[in-house]
Amino acid sequence: MTTVDLEFDQLNSTVDALRRSISNRMMYGVGKDAVTAHPHDWLHAAALAVRDRLVARWMKTTRLQYEQDVKRVYYLSMEFLIGRTFTNALLALGIHDQMRDALASLGVDMQALTDIEPDAALGNGGLGRLAACFLDSMATLGIPGFGYGIRYEYGMFRQEIINGEQVEAPDYWLRAGNPWEFPRPEIKYMVHFGGRTVQRGEQVEWIDTEHVNATAYDTVIPGYATDATNTLRLWSARATDELDLGAFNRGDYRNAVDTKNMSENVSRLLYPDDSTQAGRELRLRQEYFFVSATMQDLIRRYQRTHSTFGRFSEKVAVHLNDTHPVLAIPELMRLLVDIHNLSWDKAWKHVTQIFSYTNHTLMPEALETWDVEMLARLLPRHLEIIFEINAQFLKHVSEQSGHDAEMIRRISLVDEYGQRRVRMAHLAIVASDKVNGVSKLHSQLMTRDIFADFAQLYPDRFTNVTNGITPRRWLAQASPSMSSLIDQHIGSHWRSNLFELEQLRNLRTDSGFIDAFREAKRQSKLRLVHRLAHHTKLPFNPDALFDMQVKRIHEYKRQLLNLLHVIVRYNQIRANPEHDWVPRVVMFAGKAASAYRMAKTIIKLIGDVGQKVNHDPLVGDRLKVVFVPNYGVSVAELMIPAADLSEQISMAGTEASGTGNMKLALNGALTIGTMDGANIEICDAVGRENIFIFGHSADEVDDLRASGYRPRQVYEENAELRMALDQIRTGFFSPDDPLRFSDIFHTLVDWGDHYMVLADFAAFAKAQAEVDARFVDKRAWTESAIENVAGMGQFSSDRTIGEYARNIWHVSSLNLE
Ligand SMILES: *Cc1c(COP(=O)(O)O)cnc(C)c1O
Repeated sequence: MTTVDLEFDQLNSTVDALRRSISNRMMYGVGKDAVTAHPHDWLHAAALAVRDRLVARWMKTTRLQYEQDVKRVYYLSMEFLIGRTFTNALLALGIHDQMRDALASLGVDMQALTDIEPDAALGNGGLGRLAACFLDSMATLGIPGFGYGIRYEYGMFRQEIINGEQVEAPDYWLRAGNPWEFPRPEIKYMVHFGGRTVQRGEQVEWIDTEHVNATAYDTVIPGYATDATNTLRLWSARATDELDLGAFNRGDYRNAVDTKNMSENVSRLLYPDDSTQAGRELRLRQEYFFVSATMQDLIRRYQRTHSTFGRFSEKVAVHLNDTHPVLAIPELMRLLVDIHNLSWDKAWKHVTQIFSYTNHTLMPEALETWDVEMLARLLPRHLEIIFEINAQFLKHVSEQSGHDAEMIRRISLVDEYGQRRVRMAHLAIVASDKVNGVSKLHSQLMTRDIFADFAQLYPDRFTNVTNGITPRRWLAQASPSMSSLIDQHIGSHWRSNLFELEQLRNLRTDSGFIDAFREAKRQSKLRLVHRLAHHTKLPFNPDALFDMQVKRIHEYKRQLLNLLHVIVRYNQIRANPEHDWVPRVVMFAGKAASAYRMAKTIIKLIGDVGQKVNHDPLVGDRLKVVFVPNYGVSVAELMIPAADLSEQISMAGTEASGTGNMKLALNGALTIGTMDGANIEICDAVGRENIFIFGHSADEVDDLRASGYRPRQVYEENAELRMALDQIRTGFFSPDDPLRFSDIFHTLVDWGDHYMVLADFAAFAKAQAEVDARFVDKRAWTESAIENVAGMGQFSSDRTIGEYARNIWHVSSLNLE
């Protein structure tokens, strides 16, 4: 150890200085010269030059955090859907143009470099992207926060579309190295599995376990236009013994390596298929692996500056992004009680002040539970702790509720019906100081329906924090044409205070601004058309209405509702080609979970409908249907700015919030949507006349179901809908395999239509007709689009994080002097 100060170069960011840094990094970091360098080497050298400029801020932030002995937030998430980092870091540092010029002076095109950076796709959809937006906002607001998760070697699969079908390919995103991360091999914790427990006096010991090491990889998260930076710490599994030397010496090489591989599988890939027992067990191991390492790390950091646990809960807040990290609760209890010798009561008091939990879904089948038998085998000590928490909780409830046995069965942490299972959401609620939903409607339904008993018991525990998105990535970075137009009129401060967009309202009637706005949108449409040209080989009319539904493929999101309307429209065009149709390009993008048959069939149907429609000479450019493959953050950044219309058409009561809806409206798309999730708040913010709302509300859905919903009757009574459904059933779109889509037909018509697609069809078609009518009036349409952008202030994740910090975590921003 030494206390000598380092002498290092202060880096400025002129074009010349950047050029020198890139050259130095190419020589001394990558180890190549300009002659032998590949594009990836340039990206690496440029990324390292940028990273160097973040490090000084990072050191400063960390030093100030220790000096001010701040309370820290630990944001635990199984998913962080970060996307690319290069452009984001350049914009945060305010050196985008300097870097572009520095690279140009070296003969390198920056756009070409940014296009080859792989996405960090360590997530699945909205939940993972929310975590990434939150990291950006925490850093920007100077909230001392850490993201904690898993460094999957293989992220979310890459989706290829072959003959219209989804084919999953591995996403080895680390192939070319990751210049943004700092490996910290010295930061490692042992994580145990299996074994058994023994009582020794007062203490319980967990023995005879197998173990794996968790080692840390740190990524700097820059705040926008501030010195504050945060850290995303991702854990990677390392076998505790590199090789089984015994087996190795016996000449059993295969087994010697297998053991190592088996234990390292835990950080191998995102979402192992949980349709098998082995897949579920791996998933449970992943969940425990990352929360155990994180709880050990958090205790170590606290103990660096505190000699007792007296102020623990004043200095630490742990947030659970859905239930996947809930094992952090029994793990922290175990560490405090078994390892650090706190009494149960003291430990529990800390735990219940430290934790908070966000619920992300109301759908019962999506609420996580774990088989008691599996927990007993893999985590026997944790199961004991969960049983003890449950015993104390139920005793308390029983006393309060006058021994209401039915209620106790409902709220128990253990589901006793059939095979016994631990209800992870119940554990999260019992241990948390605050529990929140992600939109006003969702939070209401959460306390009315799935957690009604808990809301009665703990009325002050439940709250709402509506989701948000970071305007840095979703407007400044994704849409250069729109953001520079906005800058010209209201300055650039909206990046830090999105409410400034309200000033655009005054420009709504300014013809010059309207034209420029339309032109900015057109630029994004041309950019997309250009990129799609390779993929689709179809000519798109950039002046057509670009209609987008971009999100995971799921029945509740109702891509089928959209597609049925496309088919009806197609039939109408064919019946009446002379009519003055508003040209539309209907785009879909999204991945289907690999074991979700129906979702994959829906993708195939979109493809088959596209084949038919796109090649029908009668239709021409009046209608095109496109499925854009491999939806992820970078594809979203390309598509969303090009949208005129945003499809947010989930059955009311099923989409907890939606954040795609916010990104699209922020980019000047008009929403067609149901009164679901955050759509309701978006409607309030942009004005009812600037959004197309249709369909059953959540209460009407309940009423319809209660009164006996009969989809076949809808089918029989609506001739256009019936024709479309019959075409699906009889192979009109799949002459090579006429029965391919018969399950889709039966699901909708005969098997209950669980998501009420047919019930909302007529209202949807009517709303789509209003869309056409408005689009024809270019000026009216653009005015509405401007109102949408202007109303998006409250959907910045800066607002969201401000609410979490104040009302849930009770943390303040770092004082940067
Ligand atoms: C925002 C986002 C989502 C969430 O979209 P929803 O429409 O809210 O489901 C999913 N995936 C990616 C890549 C995103 O950027």
